[in-house]
Amino acid sequence: MNSRPVYYEEPYLKTLEATVLAILDDGVILDQTICYPEGGGQSGDRGTIGGSTLLDTVKGEEGAILHKVENPTFAVGDSVLIELDWDHRYHYMQMHTAQHIASGILHSSFSIGTVSVHQGEKILTIETDRDEIPQRECYALEDLVNRNIREGHPLHYREETQETAHKMSLRRSIKVADETIRLVEIEDVDVIACAGLHLANTREAVLFQYEGQEKLRGHVRLIFSVGDEALSSIRENRALVDQLCTLHSARKETLLEVEKLFMEQVGQDRYLLGKKSERVASLMLESLAGKADQIDGIPVVLWEVEEDIDMKQVASAFSRMEDMVLCAAKVEKDKLLWLVGLGGKASALLDFNTMKKQILAPVSGKGGGRETLFQGVGIGMPKTFFSAFTKVVYENN
Ligand SMILES: [Zn+2]
Repeated sequence: MNSRPVYYEEPYLKTLEATVLAILDDGVILDQTICYPEGGGQSGDRGTIGGSTLLDTVKGEEGAILHKVENPTFAVGDSVLIELDWDHRYHYMQMHTAQHIASGILHSSFSIGTVSVHQGEKILTIETDRDEIPQRECYALEDLVNRNIREGHPLHYREETQETAHKMSLRRSIKVADETIRLVEIEDVDVIACAGLHLANTREAVLFQYEGQEKLRGHVRLIFSVGDEALSSIRENRALVDQLCTLHSARKETLLEVEKLFMEQVGQDRYLLGKKSERVASLMLESLAGKADQIDGIPVVLWEVEEDIDMKQVASAFSRMEDMVLCAAKVEKDKLLWLVGLGGKASALLDFNTMKKQILAPVSGKGGGRETLFQGVGIGMPKTFFSAFTKVVYENN
């Protein structure tokens, strides 16, 4: 029991009456169908069957075409109307046909083989057998594919025996064991064995755009957009450039130069701001040291660090001080950042590792350091950390 595929004879049929043969757990079987089941890198059809939503079409075991219908409202024996999501199907036919042209040209003009293909919702990808393809070759490919689209090459189908098809030395080896092989020919461009759905003429692919490349399993994978998606992609890029031009009050021609200068300025401002914050941190620490309690003449500084000073600047300010016990903390992104400094004679007075457990436990602190500077993170408020710290320091001295 299987649905007779009508999509090969009539790839442009958008609706069809059919009879329900079975409603199984893994899908609905009809007497005939225009819904293409997912396969060969091409997505399964969607739409409605008898008014119920068709989510996907797949091939089951033994090749049954299974219609994944959400809550079917029909029964076995009913006559139902299949209505395809034509935009979805047509875009896949465009991407698939463009992929044949592109793989054919990669093979004939660049001696580049196609390892695998994938047609996504928006983009088409071709995994090649190369580990490197220069950008100029990708743009040359884009030009050649678009020329083939404009030239309007018709597509033809024919069936050959397995033996004859093998002798034709097609660019891609035949992967099915069937006795007869379905060959798809793009006139004057490419011939290949394929069970997918294609356009009637390359002209219908409209536009083919190179979108970039990435590495996959050591191979270059080329990324393209086709048809309406290529036009959308161009529009999105243009809108992005327009917004950047408005932000920088620049023309498109000078945008890159303006952006470079802007980034240089940002870098310089950051550097100067960092220097200023470091100076502020040093002044703060000197001032706190002047007012701090002392042990054996060494100031014990507790510093709840201000929002605009980071712990790196605290550490840097501490490194410029002499004899000092420093306990600094601040809350940043819900975390407690802590720092303990034992400068000059303070390192003889206190040993961080022996008091570590007692001062870090109340704030579930982690971290460490060596010689004079210890840092880490924890949970809680600075005052909790300070009271644990002072308790240990004054108990020992
Ligand atoms: Zn195909």
